[in-house]
Amino acid sequence: MVLQDLGRRLNQAIQSVNGQTTIDEPALDAVLKSVCAALLESDVNVLLVKRCRDRVKQLVLPQLEEMQAKQGQGGDAMQGNKAKQLIHKAIYDELVALVDPGDSAPPAFNPVKGKSQVIMMVGLQGAGKTTTCTKLATHYQRRGLKVALVCADTFRAGAFDQLKQNAVRAKVPFFGSLITLDFLASGNRTLMHNAHMMYSYTETDPVSISLQGVQKFRAERFDVIIVDTSGRHRQESELFDEMVQIQEGIEPDMTVLVLDGAIGQAAQDQARAFKDASNFGAIIVTKLDGHAKGGGAISAVAATNTPIIFIGTGEHLHDLEKFSPQPFISKMLG
Ligand code: GDP
Repeated sequence: MVLQDLGRRLNQAIQSVNGQTTIDEPALDAVLKSVCAALLESDVNVLLVKRCRDRVKQLVLPQLEEMQAKQGQGGDAMQGNKAKQLIHKAIYDELVALVDPGDSAPPAFNPVKGKSQVIMMVGLQGAGKTTTCTKLATHYQRRGLKVALVCADTFRAGAFDQLKQNAVRAKVPFFGSLITLDFLASGNRTLMHNAHMMYSYTETDPVSISLQGVQKFRAERFDVIIVDTSGRHRQESELFDEMVQIQEGIEPDMTVLVLDGAIGQAAQDQARAFKDASNFGAIIVTKLDGHAKGGGAISAVAATNTPIIFIGTGEHLHDLEKFSPQPFISKMLG
């Protein structure tokens, strides 16, 4: 079920008590059953769904029983409506809690003008890291910050080209090596020669590249330096080793995990593995415009106690929305 459908299904579940004057425990259970089914179909983690159900029930049931007792004594005829509002509010609050680590998490870093700050992007290949780097650069640029991009992905063929194309389109300075490890393995010297002539960066060590790039842009007094790292395909130990080395080298002010919104139940484990290795301080969930269920990525917030700061809503430069838990859930519920 895609994210937009989740809101509709949740609303339907809540509306199912419409017209009932008395809402008792079985009626509440029926609503919660439909809510849980919708959340599970959207890939929200099963333990979180259970926690959500238990908390809503714990909060709402005593109040429903109190209302019923009053009704029995000739109380308010509007009990059904009141109960519905109560259930709606409790579910809304739980959904907000699902995407909001609240005060228990350190606030996500917010770059300011006048000093060089480094943001390092991590995530699996295909999650949308490179695209999001440029979107983020454009976002900060529009806020008047001087932004630059560094491509530390020497693993994937074409990674530098992709970042370069995006950066040129966004008019953001960039730094990287055209020569990737798989290119070197291919033994193709012609491109290497051209690459050397064009860029004079023949470095293939991602740690050196990121350090050089960050040092260069720091010296040029850029406010925000965004470093795109390699993603590879799976959570491999080399990937994590490399990530940790880059992190130790460039000492980023914030590390951001980029998570594919369509990733499903695997998101929790993936986020935890990245958290253990990089202790990222913020999450960006991509591809929430398409057929992404979103629930898996959303569950990563709870798994890592880390806030989502932006969501990706398309392939274009400006398809990046600031994320705030309450407006997000309000919009979803319509
Ligand atoms: P990387 O391997 O993590 O660097 O991923 P890329 O940035 O290359 O993105 C992989 C694919 O996802 C590309 O086709 C992007 O255009 C696409 N993509 C990235 N973010 C979004 C998004 O928010 N919405 C949609 N629809 N596509 C996205």
